[in-house]
Amino acid sequence: MKKRLETICVQGGYTPGNGEPRQIPIVQSTTFKYDTSEDMGKLFDLEASGYFYSRLQNPTNDLVAAKIAELEGGCAAMLTSSGQAANFYAIFNIATCGDHIVSSSSIYGGTFNLFAVTMRKMGIEFTFVSPDCTDEELEAAFRPNTKAVFGETIANPALCVLDIERFANAAHKHGVPLIIDNTFATPVNCRPFEWGADIVTHSTTKYMDGHGSAVGGCIVDSGKFDWTKYPEKFAGLCTPDDSYHGVVYAERFGLEGAFITKATAQLMRDFGSIQAPFNAYLLNLGLESLHVRMKRHCENAQAVAEFLESSDKISWVRYCGLKNDKYHALAEKYLPNGSCGVVSFGVKGGRKAAESFMKKLRVIAIETHVADARSCCLHPASATHRQMTDDELLAAGVSPDLVRLSCGIENAQDLIDDIKQALDQID
Ligand SMILES: *Cc1c(COP(=O)(O)O)cnc(C)c1O
Repeated sequence: MKKRLETICVQGGYTPGNGEPRQIPIVQSTTFKYDTSEDMGKLFDLEASGYFYSRLQNPTNDLVAAKIAELEGGCAAMLTSSGQAANFYAIFNIATCGDHIVSSSSIYGGTFNLFAVTMRKMGIEFTFVSPDCTDEELEAAFRPNTKAVFGETIANPALCVLDIERFANAAHKHGVPLIIDNTFATPVNCRPFEWGADIVTHSTTKYMDGHGSAVGGCIVDSGKFDWTKYPEKFAGLCTPDDSYHGVVYAERFGLEGAFITKATAQLMRDFGSIQAPFNAYLLNLGLESLHVRMKRHCENAQAVAEFLESSDKISWVRYCGLKNDKYHALAEKYLPNGSCGVVSFGVKGGRKAAESFMKKLRVIAIETHVADARSCCLHPASATHRQMTDDELLAAGVSPDLVRLSCGIENAQDLIDDIKQALDQID
């Protein structure tokens, strides 16, 4: 029976048999027992599937990954220890020293650092393009050694909406996949595979967990990108892997299995950034209410954004749900049911006023976090970006007055009342 998104949130990934646990079992075991060495040898040769060591795979994780794959409309998925690990694996699975990636410049700061500093040290070059660039500028970013295009559905913290279809078409024209970090939208509000994306990543730390309980990540494969059309470009998937007696992933596991099997067999084996089974269990609890929470996050953010827009103490507001927002048209196309709970705005009076405003908040807490059931906010100029001067902040697209507010699922009027009283007390 075809299940709709809400049912998948609650029941996807795991169907217990007769007399089995209703909730997913936490398999808190590092290792798994076999009757013969031959049985185990088959696992090591990738000839049989099964578990042998929780650095590579764990049954609890696989149940939760299967739910996320179903939510995204993908064919296979893996959980990672963090969103950072997910984005690293998604790219490192197909790019190596000497390769090149085209990435949107409007991405999460941690991802930007991973790409521009750490992966560059590994010999992978990145060209950053604005999500609003022209077709010609996008075209000019590609090189013969480009292996993928990367972007975020809704950028954290810039809140730009990516034209996924346009980026997918450009990627496919050059014979490479589009990787989309869908953390802020979640599959409840956008399913990038429906717009041509090939791989989706998540920081499950955000809305998917949703309760500030467990750091985690996920990679989902659509199974639609045909690696075998470009065997030289994607040699890792299309030529023998000597560390597994010459297995060719694209041949043995097909288009639907190759990407995630390679990421598990090579990257998890060698880097071991696996999610703890207990964290996967917490993540699954979050997923069970994702569809209900996302709706409320978006309703609250819309109400707060509209209030901020009407306040004479606020100089600007960015939220794609607002009719006047620069990204409203793209949001109507890609996010018709809502975007996310994060709003950014500028307080009149600049840096000092923003700091003073935040000190007075009672319901909304100051945190370096977003996408939590509890509302929180951050003033980048005095926290994550505090080493920068006002001029440097402007160059980085973070104005000194910018407040990033993540609307939780509390009562919207309570959030507005809190903001109102804090704005009235700015000194
Ligand atoms: C937080 C975040 C990440 C990094 O995820 P962690 O779970 O913190 O490692 C990656 N991408 C986006 C869009 C994020 O918001």
